Amino acid sequence: MISNLHLSNLSLSKLAASTALACAAAFTALPAAAQPTPASPEISLARLDCGTPILNIVARFNDTWAFTDNKVLFTFSCYLIRRGDDYMLWDTGHALTAGAPAPKVSIVDQLAQINVKPEQIKYVGISHYHADHTGQVASFPGATVLIGKGDWEGITAPTPNVGANVAPFAHWISGGGKLEALPGDKDVFGDGSVVILNTPGHTPGHHSLLVKLNSTGNVLITGDLSHFQENYASNGVPSFNYHRGDTLASLDRFKTAAANLKATVIIQHDARDVGKLPAWPGFVK
Ligand SMILES: [Zn+2]
Repeated sequence: MISNLHLSNLSLSKLAASTALACAAAFTALPAAAQPTPASPEISLARLDCGTPILNIVARFNDTWAFTDNKVLFTFSCYLIRRGDDYMLWDTGHALTAGAPAPKVSIVDQLAQINVKPEQIKYVGISHYHADHTGQVASFPGATVLIGKGDWEGITAPTPNVGANVAPFAHWISGGGKLEALPGDKDVFGDGSVVILNTPGHTPGHHSLLVKLNSTGNVLITGDLSHFQENYASNGVPSFNYHRGDTLASLDRFKTAAANLKATVIIQHDARDVGKLPAWPGFVK
């Protein structure tokens, strides 16, 4: 069935191509080879330090008494995607006022090390509304914020959801900035290279990120779908998640996608996973 469909699509595209050639020949003398083919812009990915690692109590991160260790080291990471001349941030980490887990260097200052100004950031994708993923969003008022619809509703509700970090979104709440509240997936550049994936459960509008790199291959970045490798392997669900069933369904989707795409998985809070990418300002392509 699939191969029949493929063949008929192929035949249709051949037909379309020959018709187009005939039309082109009728109006111009240019051969088809002279028509410009748009080149796909190069995609690259880097991770930024967006907090100071801290020990976190592991028991809260699963509701099945799976782990006996008291504490696990949590790291805080954000990501920069460069596609041609466009830049996108994925998450904005802790605020500099966050106390012990606050970053030593702001995202703006890290970007300055590669001569990128905040105004050059076209999109800020937010995995979810918690403070350790949204702390520096206000540094990018000119960017279009891409955030799950469920999370945006939790931020803007008369009584915001528990755990929603409302204050740094004031610029967008007031209507001063561009924002897209995503009901599902979002193909950011329209070519499948960077796709924000609907993976609700940790929060109502939680999302993860797929980046398709030419050399490195596919990379799937979790957001907080999972927090560390052992919890990911055993489908651990934090006791404080918004919806247990949605989390399990999202884990199923993400893991199946990772297998099908042969993707490198990066769990944003796990130093072992974050270390799969070079230290800032190193990029992979
Ligand atoms: Zn979270």
